Amino acid sequence: MFPENIQIETTTLCSNGCIMCPYKFVSRPKFMPMRLIDKIIDECSGKNVTIIPHQMGDPLSNDRIINILKKCKDKKLEILMSASGLLLEKEKASESVNIGVDIINISLDSLNKEIYEKIRNISFNKIMKNIRDLLSLKKHRLKYGFRLLIFSSIKLQEMNLLIIGNRGLIMYR
Ligand code: SF4
Repeated sequence: MFPENIQIETTTLCSNGCIMCPYKFVSRPKFMPMRLIDKIIDECSGKNVTIIPHQMGDPLSNDRIINILKKCKDKKLEILMSASGLLLEKEKASESVNIGVDIINISLDSLNKEIYEKIRNISFNKIMKNIRDLLSLKKHRLKYGFRLLIFSSIKLQEMNLLIIGNRGLIMYR
């Protein structure tokens, strides 16, 4: 039996400082060797697998991530990319989407700016801009579609405030 989901810790690097995250204490190498990543992708080829290119760290901190995503799609593997959202600026976001990343997952802990920034140490306004830019990508001609998952404990009513005016599909929990 082959696993349905495979997480590849492409990097342990991250430029954020979320209060709950122990990534700074991880003593593993900062980057997984490319030959090992290639081997995993090759072994997944032809299987019904979703590749999740992160464990600890932000996958977009890795300069090789676009290359890695392309290799996964060349092997027709589904990709679920979790990212802090901070590095998902327009260029990187559209590049990831156009490669065919199937699901982009952003953790949005609160719609309260102060609480969010206390937890994540990231500019709330910047994250909201990046989410809106991602949603606006759906209005443009894309080679592939994608799903945006927002993992959060915020209430449905608050979420409606967030997506109002956008046609993006958002799933939440
Ligand atoms: S974005 Fe992820 S890896 Fe980076 S500090 Fe936050 S929880 Fe940790």
